[in-house]
Amino acid sequence: MSVLTELAASLASGAVKTVDLTHTLDPDFPVMILPPEFGQCARFRVEEVSRYDERGPGWYWRNFSCGEHTGTHFDAPIHWISGRDLPNATVDAIPVSAFVGPVCVIDCAGEAAEDEDYLLEVETIEAWEAIHGEIPAGAWVLMRTDWSKRSGAEYLNMREDGAHSPGPSAQTIRFLVETRDILGFGTETVGTDAGQGAHLSPPYPAHYILHGAGKLGLQCLANLDQLPATGAILICPPLKIKHGSGSPLRVMALVEE
Ligand code: MN
Repeated sequence: MSVLTELAASLASGAVKTVDLTHTLDPDFPVMILPPEFGQCARFRVEEVSRYDERGPGWYWRNFSCGEHTGTHFDAPIHWISGRDLPNATVDAIPVSAFVGPVCVIDCAGEAAEDEDYLLEVETIEAWEAIHGEIPAGAWVLMRTDWSKRSGAEYLNMREDGAHSPGPSAQTIRFLVETRDILGFGTETVGTDAGQGAHLSPPYPAHYILHGAGKLGLQCLANLDQLPATGAILICPPLKIKHGSGSPLRVMALVEE
């Protein structure tokens, strides 16, 4: 059997299942809040055009609007100043091969439950690799924190000094980019950086280092507890927005039972 014929048979039999890693686009879902002097990302908004009524007797449809970084979303390299001059740095120009690939999941749920400012360090990656093998070049790496199970104010976890949520250290992102040549990095939180990432060096190291190297980001992921550490395939094509810095998207994974 060819690889794809075998895959089709495995999908039909349930030997390969499809896992949804996406939050529902909803006006109530939180978006990142920047200090008030900066522009703000819009929440998801929706208005009805018609619903089998005088505005359209036989059909239901709506208009929606949102930020490029609203809900479960994709970050393109041009999102950050470090990536602004790279080729193919916008969502419409990234080769589509980047949107399907192997995924490694680093389970930090226990650590994040104990320390809301938990930083994923290189030693933890190395300990993970000692069990699961080296992260292959071109892989997506996802940081599982179970943060997606939070809701309301607990999700952004804002205080007077800003957001408190887990993320990677600068050294970890540099290691994943320079030593492992990953394709992208994803999180369950509202950004690829920790809530207090502005205080790291460089500030917002995941954004700065990933996008400066042409790597990609995913945020507000869900259901990472349903993925194995290795062996799944991630599918994450963003909307093809002209010159887009990112986009909401449906993210899913193929997982062998
Ligand atoms: Mn973003």
